[in-house]
Amino acid sequence: MFKKGYKQTEEHKRKISESKKGKKRPPFSEEWRKNLSEAHKKLIPWNKDLTKETDERVRKISDTKKGHIVSEETKRKQSIANSGKRNGMYGVHKFGKGSSNWIDGRSFEPYTQKFNKFLKENIKKIYNFECQLCYVNEKEHIKKYNKKISIHHIDYNKKNCSMKNLIVLCLKCNSKVNGNREYWKEFFIRKINND
Ligand SMILES: [Zn+2]
Repeated sequence: MFKKGYKQTEEHKRKISESKKGKKRPPFSEEWRKNLSEAHKKLIPWNKDLTKETDERVRKISDTKKGHIVSEETKRKQSIANSGKRNGMYGVHKFGKGSSNWIDGRSFEPYTQKFNKFLKENIKKIYNFECQLCYVNEKEHIKKYNKKISIHHIDYNKKNCSMKNLIVLCLKCNSKVNGNREYWKEFFIRKINND
């Protein structure tokens, strides 16, 4: 019984093998290869060297395109419709003065957080990493407060990041200048201009 089953299987295998052979793709002939190669070489635009004067297909496309040309009158109307208060962008200044990004002649908004870090470090360098009231330096500051020395905005406007508005202060002095703001503002402006 076992033998019989084995025999059938062998025969089955042979049949499958034969059927596969029949479906095998014939090998590429030299001629076939050559034709394919030629076909690739001939990949040029169908309308090459054709003009609307000599070829009807080109002429038809040309006529279709003409219909899409926006007349000067239409352009003028569109322009009016899009200008002035009807335009959503009316009165919006993306850049420069009048822009919400405009800070003391310089726009800082497009810059990244990284730039702010860079700016802060630069301010610190200018002031030798020292608080401009008690002259504690950043190293001592970190030891004392476990925190970097901070940058103070002279006019108390955190958005005003102009160099002239920034100064180095330690934690203690920073809280000190929180009161009596007008006095301190004057004080630092004078200090900066004298330095
Ligand atoms: Zn200080």
